[in-house]
Amino acid sequence: MRHVPRKQATLDTHQIAMQVTKTPIGHFINGHIVANTSGRAQDVTNPAAGMVTGAVGLASAAEVCEAVAAAQAAFPGWADTPPIRRARVMFKYWGLLNKHRDELAHLITAEHGKVFTDAQGEVARGIDIVEFACGIPQLLKGDYTDQVSTGIDNWTLRQPLGVVAGITPFNFPVMVPMWMFPVAIAAGNTFVLKPSPTDPSPSLRMAELLKEAGLPDGVFNVVQGDKEAVDALIEHPDVKAISFVGSTPIANYIYETGARHGKRVQALGGAKNHMVVMPDADIDQTVDALIGAGYGSAGERCMAISVAVLVGDAADKIMPKLIERAKTLKVLDGENLAAEMGPIVTRAAHERITGYIAQGEKEGAKLLVDGRRFDASQVGDGCTGGFWMGGTLFDHVTPEMRIYKEEIFGPVLSCVRVPDLKEAVELVNAHEFGNGVACFTRDGNVAREFSRRVQVGMVGINVPIPVPMAWHGFGGWKKSLFGDMHAYGEEGVRFYTKQKSIMQRWPESTPKGAEFVMPTAK
Ligand code: NAD
Repeated sequence: MRHVPRKQATLDTHQIAMQVTKTPIGHFINGHIVANTSGRAQDVTNPAAGMVTGAVGLASAAEVCEAVAAAQAAFPGWADTPPIRRARVMFKYWGLLNKHRDELAHLITAEHGKVFTDAQGEVARGIDIVEFACGIPQLLKGDYTDQVSTGIDNWTLRQPLGVVAGITPFNFPVMVPMWMFPVAIAAGNTFVLKPSPTDPSPSLRMAELLKEAGLPDGVFNVVQGDKEAVDALIEHPDVKAISFVGSTPIANYIYETGARHGKRVQALGGAKNHMVVMPDADIDQTVDALIGAGYGSAGERCMAISVAVLVGDAADKIMPKLIERAKTLKVLDGENLAAEMGPIVTRAAHERITGYIAQGEKEGAKLLVDGRRFDASQVGDGCTGGFWMGGTLFDHVTPEMRIYKEEIFGPVLSCVRVPDLKEAVELVNAHEFGNGVACFTRDGNVAREFSRRVQVGMVGINVPIPVPMAWHGFGGWKKSLFGDMHAYGEEGVRFYTKQKSIMQRWPESTPKGAEFVMPTAK
C-alpha cells in the first residue's frame, strides 16, 4: 500500500512526480481494487505537509450499482455459511490486523494528520470490534420455549438482512468502519463501505486484509465517493440497511432519505461534549484530562471535550495550569513520536476553525490562548506548508454564543462557569447534542446523581472520553443519533439481523379440524 514519506524538507524528483501524478485511489469491488471510471476525482492531501498526494475517484451511481450487485450475488452463499466458519475468517482477520496495525496507523497519519500513537490507538479500538465479532456463534443464539402451548414449541432466531452499507467520516478512517462491517459480516450480511474521500486509503488496505483472511469475493466492497455515491446507496432497492457516522445535518438527511426508501437506518451525528468539573476534583488529573480530551487528535473526535463546565471555585483552581498546558502543547508532525497534536485535516477545516475563534472574540468570550498565533516553523521538516494551529482556550463562554452552541470540531476548548451541579446538569441537558459527557469529582453521590440525571448517551465519571468498549455499543442521544440502535455491541448484532419466530407442532395422526379462534395457550 502507498505510504507517503514524511521527510519533505525539499521536494525530491519522486515527490514532485507524486504531486503531479497524484496516486489514483480506486474502489474495491468483488475482491479486487478497481480504477474509478466516473471521470470525477478529489485531491487527497497530507495535512502535515499541505501537499496533494493522491486523487480519490468519486464513484458514479453505476459504479455503486456494480458494488451492490457484487454484494448481492455473494449474499446467499455467505448467509448460508455456518456462523463458526464466518467467525474463523474474523479470527484470521484479527491476526492480520494485529500484524499490519502500524502500517494502517501510518496510512491514517498520512491522510488524516493525527499523531501516529493516536492512530495506533484508533486501529487497536477497531480490532477490538473484530474480536467481539469472533463471538458471533454465541451472539446469534436464539431463544427457545419448549411446550409454549400443548404440543407446540416456539423459538426465535436472527437472520442477516442482505446487502448493508456503511457511510463513514474522515476522523476515524479505520475505527468507525470497524464499528460496522465486522459485526455486519460476521452476522451473515454482505457490505458496501463508502468511506470519507478525505482519507480513503486505509479502507482499501482493510479490504485487502479481509480477502487475505479468506473472506469470499463480494462480501466486502469499498466505493469511494461523495454525495452521488451516497445517494445511489441510500436509494438502491437491494441495500437493506444503512449505518452512517458523520455530521448532524447529513445524518438527518441519511435517516430521512433511507427511511423513505424503506431501509433500516442508524445515523450517528455531531457532538458538543461537556466535561463538568466539580470543586473537589483532583486538579492535576482534571487538567490532564481536559488537555488530552480537548486537543487530542486536534479536537477532531466526536467524543472530544469542547466545553469545560467549571462549577463553583473549580475555575480558579484549574485555570492557571490549564492555560500553561494549552500554551505548551507539543504540536508537531504526527510521525514525530513526541507529538501531542498534529495538523488540522484540511485547509477548509482550518479556515472554519479560525473563523470560530474570531467569532468567539466578537461575541465577548475571553480568549486566553489563541491557536491562530501558533508558530509553525518548528513542526517538522517539510511541514511548514501544512494546516497548522495551536490549541485555543476560551473562558467566560456563555450558552448564547455560537462557539458554545455549534460543533467547531477543532482544538478549541470553551470554559463555562456555573455555580453548582444543578446548573451544570441543566446546561448539558439543554444542549441539542447528547453524544458524550464527563464529570470529574471525588464525591460518589455527585457522580451517581450526575450519571442518572444527565441526558447524554455516553457518560464518563473521571473518564474524559467514555467511548464504550466493543461489547457495550456506541451511541449518543438527541441530535447525536438518528435511529434507535447504537453501533456495535449487541445492539449492532440486532441492527444487522432480523428476528424470526418459529412455532412448531407435530400433530398426532388424528386430525382435530380447523381452528377459527385466535390460538391461546392450552
Ligand atoms: P460529514 O458529515 O461531512 O461526512 C460524513 C460522510 O458523509 C462522508 O462519507 C461524506 O462523504 C458523506 N457526505 C458528506 N456530505 C454529504 C452530502 N451532502 N450528502 C450525502 N453524503 C455526504 O462528516 P465529516 O466531516 O467527515 O466528519 C466529522 C463529523 O462526523 C463531525 O460532525 C463529528 O462529530 C461526526 N462524527 C460523529 C461520530 C459519532 O459517533 N457520533 C463519530 C465520528 C464523527
